[in-house]
Amino acid sequence: MILENKTALITGASRGIGRAIALAFAKEGANLAVIYSGAEQAAQEVCSQAKAFGVQANAYRCDVSDFDASKETVQAVHKAFGRIDILVNNAGITRDGLVYTMKEADFDAVLDVNLKGAFHMIKHCYPIFVKQRSGKIINLSSVSGLMGNGGQANYSASKAGLIGLTKSVARELAGRGICCNAIAPGFIDTEMTAKISMDENQLAAMIPLKRMGKPEEVANLALFLAGAGSDYITGEVIRIDGGLAM
Ligand code: NAD
Repeated sequence: MILENKTALITGASRGIGRAIALAFAKEGANLAVIYSGAEQAAQEVCSQAKAFGVQANAYRCDVSDFDASKETVQAVHKAFGRIDILVNNAGITRDGLVYTMKEADFDAVLDVNLKGAFHMIKHCYPIFVKQRSGKIINLSSVSGLMGNGGQANYSASKAGLIGLTKSVARELAGRGICCNAIAPGFIDTEMTAKISMDENQLAAMIPLKRMGKPEEVANLALFLAGAGSDYITGEVIRIDGGLAM
């Protein structure tokens, strides 16, 4: 198994892409810290499904935009599992609107969760990874961070920021055997994209592979970036978008 005896901390793991990553990792032997912000029952359900693969799984409530709460959560996870090998910064939100009408609070909220949240978790896991002289950090960016997207200035800025964060952290930690990479999904079929006011046929027409992606397909890529098969890859941004942003 690719992740046997590894411990993975995954934010926003109660649904969507985060949930798919959690279950793919558990299937490959990883113990899980399932971080959720509100949906306790859904997070516990992910833990139960993970345990069926014979791994340990605990759920932790944590708003990643809160510096102190993130620190306490990382410390609690480290205490419970004795190590953290993989950090997946998956928690993310949208507050879409044209810049002209976008409220300052909506800009701040998106940056606080999507970008600062990842910074918090990386900062708190940093000493653990350095001490272990190993670690894999995976940040969920987006094609919006590569291409920009009208109506998503806040979201695109946060996801572009994550790419800068990824490359800087990769450079900072490469000498300690720690890898940091980003995944840039296109349209993936989750509750986040269910809010988009376009029908599936219109979306498919924009995508060279003519369909939305599945959370499990993103999870396969995350699994590769978490495992030893990607040990010589760091500071990379990998699109998984059916060709949308090529
Ligand atoms: P989703 O809305 O289904 O899930 C997001 C998760 O993040 C939820 O579990 C939510 O509770 C959690 N979360 C939100 N705010 C949080 C906070 N403050 N603290 C902790 N957790 C918090 O979205 P998804 O589609 O599964 O997206 C997962 C990630 O992938 C996000 O970062 C998103 O931006 C990115 N992404 C998604 C798509 C897509 O098409 N679905 C495309 C590109 C990038």
